Amino acid sequence: MAIIISGKDLAKKRKEYMITELTKLENKYGRRPNLAVILVGEDAGSMSYVAGKEKACNEVGIGNITIRKPDTITQEELLKIIDDLNNDENIDGILVQLPLPKHINQTFVINSIKPNKDVDGFHPKNVASLYLKQPGIIPCTPKGIIEVLESQNIEIEGKNAVIIGRSNIVGLPVSKLMLDKNATVTIAHSRTKNLGEITKKADIIIAAVGKPLFVKEDMVKEGAVVIDVGVNRNPETNKLCGDVDFVNVEKKASYITKVPGGIGPMTICCLLENTIECFIKHMEDNND
Ligand code: NAP
Repeated sequence: MAIIISGKDLAKKRKEYMITELTKLENKYGRRPNLAVILVGEDAGSMSYVAGKEKACNEVGIGNITIRKPDTITQEELLKIIDDLNNDENIDGILVQLPLPKHINQTFVINSIKPNKDVDGFHPKNVASLYLKQPGIIPCTPKGIIEVLESQNIEIEGKNAVIIGRSNIVGLPVSKLMLDKNATVTIAHSRTKNLGEITKKADIIIAAVGKPLFVKEDMVKEGAVVIDVGVNRNPETNKLCGDVDFVNVEKKASYITKVPGGIGPMTICCLLENTIECFIKHMEDNND
């Protein structure tokens, strides 16, 4: 039976540490960090993610505002809101909840956020920094995955890591982070042939596919570390589930994360960390 790594417990510990750090930062800079979240439309998933982010900010004492706009908002109006937040001295981080309605160009919107306030790490400048190993904001989910592995002192160097998924949000950036930790990385995607043969050679599997219970027991070697990023609805039970067939894979893995309570809470925790990082940079830049 695998050791279940609880992202929820890890995030709780991290948040406790942040509470003390934030008091010190307030004493040093005279105020606390402020995060602005923009939510367009009423997608149930997005509304629930934003509520989770608000709750987490409130728990640690990060100021936060959510700007809610109907999905009829024009791109121009949205860009104006971002421009105002970019220029607002009291705002340290900006997050636009994705996806956006189809009439709005998502890339254009992301690119309009000031890189130093881009807490999601999606701006091309931050993406380039990640690939060039320069200081920048690292996307929250990939960062959370590495923190989960490191929390258990799981060796990454020299290990075969198979990442299933190549999205800009999870698959690609986590592949780069694993490469930077000296893993031998294979990136699998929808056109990959004989996926099971590839994953069976993996010491570490990171599943970011978006398909319920996709990674089966026969795709996993004995003793592998399995990180489940997926957030799906189980078609049979309608309950939240990951990309990994947890019940069966758990019997073979050495370490495994669960959905819910695994990578999700660590993603939010890393959002808080990124907001604090942007805040410190903002305050230091003002002092220059
Ligand atoms: P995405 O943009 O839809 O990417 C999914 C990836 O899976 C794509 O690269 C796709 O390949 C690949 N894929 C699809 N079918 C496959 C197959 N049969 N075999 C191998 N690869 C296949 O999704 P995402 O944004 O990366 O998210 C992935 C999952 O993580 C979702 O369930 C999402 O909800 C969840 N997520 C969770 C968190 C969190 O905080 N816990 C954060 C972000 C995302 P192609 O590139 O070839 O299409």
